[in-house]
Amino acid sequence: MSEKQKNKKTDKTVSREDSLKEITALCKRRGFVYPGSEIYGGLSNTFDYGPYGVELLRNLKNEWWKTFVHNRADVVGLDSSIMLHPSVWIASGHVGSFNDPLIDCKNCKSRFRADHLIEETLKIETANLELNDFQNLFKEKSEEIICPSCGKSGNFTEVRQFNLMFQTQMGSLSDSDVTVYLRPETAQGIFINVKNIADTCRVKIPFGVAQIGKSFRNEIIARQFIFRTREFEQMEMEFFCEPGTQKEWFEHWVKFCMDWLLSIGIRKDSLRLRNHDEKELSFYSENTADIEYQFPFGWGELWGIASRTDYDLKQHAEHSRKNLEYNDQEKNQKYIPYVVEPALGLNRLMLAVLSDAYFVENPATKEQRTVLKLHPKLAPVKAGIFPLQKKDGLSEIAMEIYNDLSKSFPVDYDASGSIGKRYYRQDELGTPFCITVDYDTKENGSVTVRNRDTTEQVRIPKEELKQFLIKNMEDA
Ligand code: ATP
Repeated sequence: MSEKQKNKKTDKTVSREDSLKEITALCKRRGFVYPGSEIYGGLSNTFDYGPYGVELLRNLKNEWWKTFVHNRADVVGLDSSIMLHPSVWIASGHVGSFNDPLIDCKNCKSRFRADHLIEETLKIETANLELNDFQNLFKEKSEEIICPSCGKSGNFTEVRQFNLMFQTQMGSLSDSDVTVYLRPETAQGIFINVKNIADTCRVKIPFGVAQIGKSFRNEIIARQFIFRTREFEQMEMEFFCEPGTQKEWFEHWVKFCMDWLLSIGIRKDSLRLRNHDEKELSFYSENTADIEYQFPFGWGELWGIASRTDYDLKQHAEHSRKNLEYNDQEKNQKYIPYVVEPALGLNRLMLAVLSDAYFVENPATKEQRTVLKLHPKLAPVKAGIFPLQKKDGLSEIAMEIYNDLSKSFPVDYDASGSIGKRYYRQDELGTPFCITVDYDTKENGSVTVRNRDTTEQVRIPKEELKQFLIKNMEDA
C-alpha cells in the first residue's frame, strides 16, 4: 500500500465500540454477510456469505494460497475430508482433552465459559490451570463473579468439562453406525496424509503442506459476529523440518505471516505479536505465538503459530501402527520430522480486514460517507461502471466497457439513482474505482475515473481503462 493511502487511513472517525455494530449492519446492507436461516427466525450464530462476501473470502483465500503455496517451492497443497477415521481424534488428543470449562447460572439458566467469565470479570489468567485448580478457584471466587445475563452473583453450577467436537453417525443401519466427528481443525488431515505426500510427490524436508477448509467447534458461547462461530474456515499449514531446526523455522514463519498481513493492507499498528509464556503452552508445544488484531471489542487472536515438535506424527504412528518416519536420503538418516504450524481463521481474518478498512468520513455533515478502504486486490469489485444517463446511447457505451473489462476483473454496471448515490454504494463495497460514461465520451471517447480513497477524478481515453486499472491496482 502506498504512503498516500496509509496516511489517508489515519482519519478513522467512528468509535471502535460502535464500529462492530456498524460493520455488521453494513455487511447485511451491502450483501457481505447475512444472519443464517433468517426467514425461519435465524439459527443462532450462523452466517451466510452474500455475493460480495463470497468474493472477499475468495480473494483472501487466493492471496493466501498464492503466497503460501504457489510462490513457495517448499510448500504443496491438500484438500482432506471433513470426516476422518474416529481414531484420528483419539490419537490427536481431541477426544480426551479438546474441552472448555462450562458453567450455568442457576438463577437465569444462562450458560458461560467459566474461564472467560473469570478472566473478564476478575482479570485473572487461567490458561495454565489444571481442571481441579480451576474448579477450586471458581468456587472460591464465585461470590465476586456476576452473571452477565441476570446480574446475580455466586449462583453457579459446578464447572464441568465440555468437549467441543460435533458428533454424527455415519452409515444407514443402526447396528453398523460409526460415530464420527466433524473436524475441529484441518491440521490432522495433513498429518495423516504426509506419508502419502512424501511417497508420491517429490518433496524433501524441509517442506510444508497447506490446506484451506471448514472446521467445526461446538463453542459454548459463539459471539462477536463472525469472530467466533461454530462453523468456520481455516487456512493452515504444517511445515515439516529436521529436529533441531524448528526454532529458526518458527521465527521464519512468524515473520512471514506478519509480512503477509501487511501485504494485504492491514495497518501495522492494528497488529501485535503475543508470545505464550511457558505455563500457557500446550504440553507438546515448544513455542507458540499469536498474531493478534485490535478488533472493535479489543485485542483478539487472529493467527496462532505453534512449534508442535514431533508430537502429532508420533501419536499417529503409535495409534495407526504405521511407520511415519521420514527417510532423509541425503543425510542417510530416518527420523520423525518436527512441525511448525501457522493456523489462521479465514472468517476472523475477514472481520479484521473489514474492521481495518471501515471509515466514516465527515460524520454528521452533508459530506458524510462510509467507505471500505480495502486493498484493491481484496476488493470484491474492482470498478463500478456508470452511464450518466440511460438514454442517448450512454448505457450502450457503458455496457461495452463492462463487457470488455469483465473479461479481466469483477466489475459492476450500475445505472440507477444519481451518480452520488452510485458512488456511495461502491464506496461501501470498497470498490477502488468508478468509471462514468458521459456526453464527452460520445464526443471524444474519454471517461472519468474516480479514485475511492482520494475521490479525485481523472479523464482518460476509454481504450486505456484496462491498463490504467492494472497499473493503479499494482501501485496500491
Ligand atoms: P481461540 O482461543 O480464539 O478459541 P484457538 O487458540 O482455539 O482460538 P486455534 O485452535 O489455534 O484457535 O485455531 C487457529 C485459528 O482458527 C485461530 O487463530 C482463529 O483465527 C481460528 N478460529 C478458531 N476457533 C474459531 C471459531 N470458533 N470461529 C472462528 N475462527 C476460529
